[in-house]
Amino acid sequence: KTRLQDTLRIGSIPADGIGKEVVPAAQLVVEAVGVPVKWISLDAGFEYFQRHGVALPQSTVDTLINSCDGALFGAVSSPSHRVEGYSSPIVALRKKLDLFANIRPVISSPHVPRSLPGINCVIVRENTECLYVKEEQLTTTASGHKVATATRRISQEASARIAKVAFDIAVQRAREFKRPGKVTIVHKANVLPITDGLFRETVLAVSKESAYKDIIVEEQLVDSCVYRTFIDPQSFDVLVAPNMYGDIISDGAAAVVGGLGLVPSANSGNNFVVAEPVHGSAPDIAGLNIANPIATIRAAGLMLQQLGHDKAARAIEAGIQESLRRGQTTKDLGGSESTHSAAEKIASHAVAAL
Ligand code: ATP
Ligand code: MG
Repeated sequence: KTRLQDTLRIGSIPADGIGKEVVPAAQLVVEAVGVPVKWISLDAGFEYFQRHGVALPQSTVDTLINSCDGALFGAVSSPSHRVEGYSSPIVALRKKLDLFANIRPVISSPHVPRSLPGINCVIVRENTECLYVKEEQLTTTASGHKVATATRRISQEASARIAKVAFDIAVQRAREFKRPGKVTIVHKANVLPITDGLFRETVLAVSKESAYKDIIVEEQLVDSCVYRTFIDPQSFDVLVAPNMYGDIISDGAAAVVGGLGLVPSANSGNNFVVAEPVHGSAPDIAGLNIANPIATIRAAGLMLQQLGHDKAARAIEAGIQESLRRGQTTKDLGGSESTHSAAEKIASHAVAAL
């Protein structure tokens, strides 16, 4: 990779809907805290597809691979009806760059009324397989009834590598918080003993490795995991889940810490990170400059942390906390800031925290 001394080269992929508003807001904050960064604007998304017939141009993939240290992604619209030739560019990107782990920290926000207190967990979502292999088929029976099926792929290899990520995070957090670490394996092996059974078995095998001997391991069926997310989320440390379950429990977990506008994620591979908010393109509020930029600003913080800019990442989180404390929030959290002004305030508090 060609590199400008210590300047980070970050792909900026706002894509669709509020992605176009929250990504520039996050860029503003990253620049404010003095991280030397060259942004490289890249195309992708449903709107791009509608204009050009392709959702993830090859040039975007090539630029990321050949000349970026990481990327910040906004959101993609995913129409719920089938659109010929379209499939989600973020799902494709995760596969093409082998970003096999989706890491989603979920933390209480003290000054957000709808946030339950005392939550601090990380959802580690497998990012390459499960139902996201997207092999669906529609057939018609002899009597003329339609039958649809989908393939759900779970491999030992992908399950083992996501398990390692989860256990490594648990070890690191145990050290940081000076308390025993815990990994909760989310599955539904009672109904799906072959697919979820393999996931469960593989994660349990990884848990036996000597590096993880101090980590407590527990299992939770996905349905009761959702229930527990709503009644006792404080009891989670690290959760590890197949792709689809991980997606579903993340949205639920976002709800108990104050909403989708607050929760970031990092898609990580061996050598690359694409950070993004957990939320989608929010078509209902797109273009109004009212989207909460915090999830994306936090995503940028996760990315900076992974790229070795810990101090800047911590200042950004401190800036967010200060804005929340002062109620300088967007409408979803009861405030009156715009996307842009909320980001500016966070930026100035982050600078003060440096
Ligand atoms: P997509 O198909 O892109 O996921 P969606 O319709 O599922 O779109 P989401 O983006 O997942 O929409 O959002 C779900 C709800 O949460 C919407 O009502 C949306 O307005 C709200 N929401 C999501 N993100 C934010 C945000 N950053 N700020 C404020 N509200 C948000
Ligand atoms: Mg959504």
